[in-house]
Amino acid sequence: METIIADMTRGIDGDMMAKAGQIIRQGGLVAFPTETVYGLGANGLDETASAKIYAAKGRPSDNPLIVHIARFSDLERIAEQIPDSARKLADAFWPGPLTMIFRKSPEVPYGTTGGLDTVAVRMPDHPIALALIEAGGGYIAAPSANTSGRPSPTRAAHVAEDLQGKIDMILDGGDVGIGLESTIVDLTEEKPVILRPGYINQKMLEDVIGPVEMDRGLTADDPNVHPKAPGMKYRHYAPKASLTIVEGPAGAVMDKIRLLARQEEERGGRVGIIATDETAASYPVGIVKSVGTRTDELSISSHLYGILREFDQLQVTRIYSEAFETPMLGQAIMNRLMKAAGHQVILV
Ligand code: AMP
Ligand code: MG
Repeated sequence: METIIADMTRGIDGDMMAKAGQIIRQGGLVAFPTETVYGLGANGLDETASAKIYAAKGRPSDNPLIVHIARFSDLERIAEQIPDSARKLADAFWPGPLTMIFRKSPEVPYGTTGGLDTVAVRMPDHPIALALIEAGGGYIAAPSANTSGRPSPTRAAHVAEDLQGKIDMILDGGDVGIGLESTIVDLTEEKPVILRPGYINQKMLEDVIGPVEMDRGLTADDPNVHPKAPGMKYRHYAPKASLTIVEGPAGAVMDKIRLLARQEEERGGRVGIIATDETAASYPVGIVKSVGTRTDELSISSHLYGILREFDQLQVTRIYSEAFETPMLGQAIMNRLMKAAGHQVILV
């Protein structure tokens, strides 16, 4: 199949957007930018259409999709037993990087929810995404627009790298702002539970609705405790080379990474180092990339996946990354980095 790439980096192209909406309504696939990462969209109320998402990504069929809406009132058609807390959270954070889990209505096919009786819903904060949802009929099911197991795409070129020829259209809206997937909060239990950390952190949620728990599966060292969001159990977000995180006081971290990088090069390997603007100049070995500055957390989150992809292209054999102290996004950034590393951490 030929994939149409529509350049909307300088604004929405009305004709192309109409075409994209038509593709969605006819059961096709359109990738689109959001403020978090690029999504791969299909009509969420059409089981055959959402099945195409799984096929294009090579995604396990038990890993549910998030349904994207453009108006709060549209929630009622797809969700049941909507608690008061949902309206409060929507008032505070929608459109924005927050996904809420509800009981699903019969209108949502099991093909969209991975067989679950619950549905994940989000209103993205991006003009292209909102226009596509409107043009496509109001309910766009979308996971991240990458091949399953690869880092999520933060620019249209990443989507093309993985999915060109497998989907109908890519809407290019330039680089995304946040670069990490949305926070997921489950509102179907008595107490709200964070299933995936993101830009909207625990404190921000608690300021609006009171106590919110963190899913034990996210933090537990016990391998028998599984994360509740089906997608969180996969080794996801992963680069091809094995990645190790080095954590501790800055000086000791740099010493350790220099040592490990030298050893890997002596073995004939090719080393990638994920550093920051503050530390990048202090590594004499390896291919060093700064992910951003420690004084701006969004600079780190927005570049992380892109750097993992760059290291894939450079065919490094090992990646060493500094751990990041990021008070606001820390849980989210370290959660993704830990998953990419398959939990390999060296404490110094
Ligand atoms: P992605 O957008 O690619 O990050 O994939 C969507 C994420 O949302 C996956 O991690 C899913 O496991 C999670 N998710 C979607 N629907 C549900 C649901 N009903 N219950 C729990 N997690 C969900
Ligand atoms: Mg994903």
